[in-house]
Amino acid sequence: MVEVERRDAVVVGGGPAGLAAATWLARHRCTVVVLDSGEYRNQWVESAHGYLGLDPVDPAELRARGRQQLLAYPGVEIREVRADGARAVEGGFVVEAGGERLRARRVVLATGVVDRFPEVGNFLEHYGASVFHCPTCDGYEARDRHVVAMGWSEAIVGFALKLAGWAASVTVLTDGRRFEGDGDQRELLEGCGVAIVEDDGVELLGRRGALEGVRLAGGETLGCELLFFSIANDPRPGLADELGCRRTEDGCVHVDEHGRTSVPGVLAAGDLVPGLQLVQVAAASGAVAGVACAQSLWAEEGRMALAAGGSAPLMAERTGPGPQRLQDLEDKIDDAREGLEEIAPELDDDEARFADRGEHRPVDDSIAPH
Ligand SMILES: Cc1cc2nc3c(=O)[nH]c(=O)nc-3n(C[C@H](O)[C@H](O)[C@H](O)COP(=O)(O)OP(=O)(O)OC[C@H]3O[C@@H](n4cnc5c(N)ncnc54)[C@H](O)[C@@H]3O)c2cc1C
Repeated sequence: MVEVERRDAVVVGGGPAGLAAATWLARHRCTVVVLDSGEYRNQWVESAHGYLGLDPVDPAELRARGRQQLLAYPGVEIREVRADGARAVEGGFVVEAGGERLRARRVVLATGVVDRFPEVGNFLEHYGASVFHCPTCDGYEARDRHVVAMGWSEAIVGFALKLAGWAASVTVLTDGRRFEGDGDQRELLEGCGVAIVEDDGVELLGRRGALEGVRLAGGETLGCELLFFSIANDPRPGLADELGCRRTEDGCVHVDEHGRTSVPGVLAAGDLVPGLQLVQVAAASGAVAGVACAQSLWAEEGRMALAAGGSAPLMAERTGPGPQRLQDLEDKIDDAREGLEEIAPELDDDEARFADRGEHRPVDDSIAPH
């Protein structure tokens, strides 16, 4: 196996979470390699909805723009390759990918989840155009339309009722299983006008973008314009498990509010971690993890110190900071403080406090919030 020069960070995953994490690492002038096996969760989707300023957007276009803009930063590389393994070593981690050993001081995991699909003919022909799994993402597209909700567990109850908030009609199709909800849940659905059909969906009818219905094993057709399914999705935790990261009860990778996993130096973001599974949320959590990752690298290098007595980070320059440089900066802050104390007595009370601590700033009451 070939050893590759050490990077600051390896980001595993080239979806919105991984690209956002890498972008923020790059903006902190960290060297970063993104590993991307090309298995994007929304690869069948034509339009992702609700991304601020880009609603709707073709997810492939969003990724392409993200990649292009990321690659404009120095020290960034994207490799179209699967990461096969990862382990901690002295001073960081080794990630194996494409027959190479990549060394890095940090690892950011953004490998997403895998959806379980229903077994119905022509599924991929319609998936992402008229077939979806998430009412939050695509419920709006179901407005005033006839919808089939495919699923059989108790979870289908809330799922179907949520869809009913948009749709003209919702019918639950159990795909050949018995409905697993109890009598009360059955009554609740029926009371809300949601019928339950305990039959097997054999084939989706119509062409892409124009779903006509589901052909049932019994031979009839259940007409619908959209189909949503509620089965399950499984996080891709392989690397997280190898690295020893704690997982939540539902299998996600556990992280704190900075995207840090239970293993120091390993961060995670996107659908892989708990929370809403949306493009914008994935990108946001990637940004959080990327910034936290970069700051931990800076802290390790002594490039970041906390300003005395405050919470604002004091960033020293990237090149040649060293302890002496930090000491110089701290001395300058002390000099500035002494200077302030000298001029403060000449100012009136409010101005002096404002200049000194940024507090008690006189405000114009007419614009203050009530
Ligand atoms: C049908 C459908 C419709 C959706 N509609 C919307 C919508 O309208 N609006 C919305 O906001 N969200 C929508 N979503 C959800 C959205 O797609 C996800 O929340 C988002 O893609 C999550 O981003 P991510 O970066 O966490 O994961 P992904 O985008 O899935 O990216 C995972 C990345 O990890 C890589 N990877 C995995 N394992 C490895 C490995 N071992 N080595 C290297 N690379 C690896 C993959 O190749 C990929 O690059 C939809 C999802 C689906 C399936």
